[in-house]
Amino acid sequence: MHATPIISVRNLHRSFDNVQAVCGVTFDIFPGQVVGFIGANGAGKTTTMRIMATLDTPTIGTVEISGSDVINFPDRVRAKIGWMPDNFGTYEHMTVFEYLDFYGRAFGYKGEARSARLREVMDFTDLTELAERPMNKLSKGMTQRLCLGRTLLHDPEVLILDEPAAGLDPKARVEFKRLVRLLAQQGKTIFISSHILSELGEMCDSLLFIDGGRIVHHGTAESLQEQASAQALIDVQVAGDPEPLRQWIQLNPGVTLVEMRKRGARVSFERDEPEFLAAILKKMITDGLVVIEFHREGRKLEDAFVDMLKKVEPSRVTPPPLPMP
Ligand code: ATP
Repeated sequence: MHATPIISVRNLHRSFDNVQAVCGVTFDIFPGQVVGFIGANGAGKTTTMRIMATLDTPTIGTVEISGSDVINFPDRVRAKIGWMPDNFGTYEHMTVFEYLDFYGRAFGYKGEARSARLREVMDFTDLTELAERPMNKLSKGMTQRLCLGRTLLHDPEVLILDEPAAGLDPKARVEFKRLVRLLAQQGKTIFISSHILSELGEMCDSLLFIDGGRIVHHGTAESLQEQASAQALIDVQVAGDPEPLRQWIQLNPGVTLVEMRKRGARVSFERDEPEFLAAILKKMITDGLVVIEFHREGRKLEDAFVDMLKKVEPSRVTPPPLPMP
């Protein structure tokens, strides 16, 4: 692990009137890391990211990026970061090329250097063939690639991407993930927010979970799944009607119905020891259930997240961020 963080957030608070949007957020991100920032709607992601991107100021706390404080040296920070907002305007009569060219000029590129940079960025984001298309005639996926292209123009070392995959269809999402992976291979530090827990899990080195403005977990997807619960999730299938299984689960201690399925149920077992699981399976069979399938499920990240929230603050559990439809 590198000794010096490239992003350092300390005791960040931001309130709006009587809403505490961000409440004591602290974390470090090291050069080259890809970190997923996950939380439900209203959890405080955009507020945190906007402060990091020098677009808002905290009520209390500090953020340093590449060694510069975002409040005192916003220009230095802006030169180092690429910010991709969750919403951005499109202009009716502006083509993809004109849009990127405008930002290229704003970033100070001149003459052939600007043309070369635009070619590189359009090539990377697969926009070359769309150069002359008006930007308000692009699909959502193309628009997101254009916004990413704009974010990359000045070749920033840190990328702050606010829900870049929101609203993309599965194909466009896969394509976007591929671009993020390529950028990670180039050594960029990437801070990316999303609701798509499982997708971020495989793409990120670590995950930062925020709930009610507070960080509730920072670690790998695996560590979240390990820590969150000592329970086992078992997929039980029976021959014929699953109703007797449902009734059996209700009558027996140590097992809880998670959801009914066409041929059985997803069942949570209160302990994850082989002897316990074997004893329950034996009882199911001796009680007359015709069990034809009994296998442990890998814990879904979403389930792990909910369990972890219950541990952090059992009385207040925000519904989990759902995967994209
Ligand atoms: P989403 O996934 O819906 O974008 P988020 O995690 O990004 O949510 P934020 O946008 O940071 O959440 O909002 C956190 C809280 O702060 C919410 O309760 C929101 O209503 C509130 N909030 C954010 N910006 C403002 C503002 N400018 N004025 C008042 N309240 C705000």
